Amino acid sequence: MDTAKDTIIFLGTGGARFTVAKQLLATGGVWMNLAGEQILMDPGPGSLVYAIKLGCDPTKLSAIILSHKHLDHSVDINVMIEAMTEGGWKKRGNVYAPADAFENGAVILPYLQGCPEKVELLEEGKRYAVGDVKFSTPVKHIHQVETYGFVFKTPKHKFSWITDTKIFDSLASHYHADLVIINVLCLEHRVPVDHLSLTDAVKLIKEIKPRTAILTHFGITMWKTKPWEMEKEVSDDTGVRVIAARDGMVLDLDTVY
Ligand SMILES: [Zn+2]
Repeated sequence: MDTAKDTIIFLGTGGARFTVAKQLLATGGVWMNLAGEQILMDPGPGSLVYAIKLGCDPTKLSAIILSHKHLDHSVDINVMIEAMTEGGWKKRGNVYAPADAFENGAVILPYLQGCPEKVELLEEGKRYAVGDVKFSTPVKHIHQVETYGFVFKTPKHKFSWITDTKIFDSLASHYHADLVIINVLCLEHRVPVDHLSLTDAVKLIKEIKPRTAILTHFGITMWKTKPWEMEKEVSDDTGVRVIAARDGMVLDLDTVY
């Protein structure tokens, strides 16, 4: 793998229960190569297997970041912590997650919580650093469990990631960047869920006005409408280049925006 470039590898683009259960789309989060650091975000089901298949080496990870503890984001986090710390024998790597990922109903097993070199709790308005990669969690999202999105900055790039949340008035204001990645679970809100729909995503893109927006984390209604066939329509509507992420897609940050 070329780690000299800043890239984001989509191990999977699926989200929510039915997409996960049937693996209509792969799941497992994203693998980011940023400023020479390898960072895994939201290792959902299959993350280890998909990562290895795509040539990623979990023993080389610098950090694992968890936006929230729902299973489609977290179920492989323990096996990834074991891999990053070489079976727990080497105290290395950082883990970032909300407090409720470590407490009652912890998704990070207690016996692994002491294995990384550093464990930091994600909190609203805090900033973090992994080598030359800085990231912040500007606002607590509206979701069933404690959840944060991210603004990442490397020496060369800045991009934001709006993870699972119900839309709220100030949401867009926290994520201004030339590249915005958005978890779009459903096409429209048929039942009240604390997730973003495609309609919400269009509204956010129009407010943020990035140069490029990437959509990912598709639930079954998005999968059925084939988001990759809607790119032009959504781009025309928003006036922004919109890309629907695909399983295994490698986003080169030097050329994407
Ligand atoms: Zn969730």
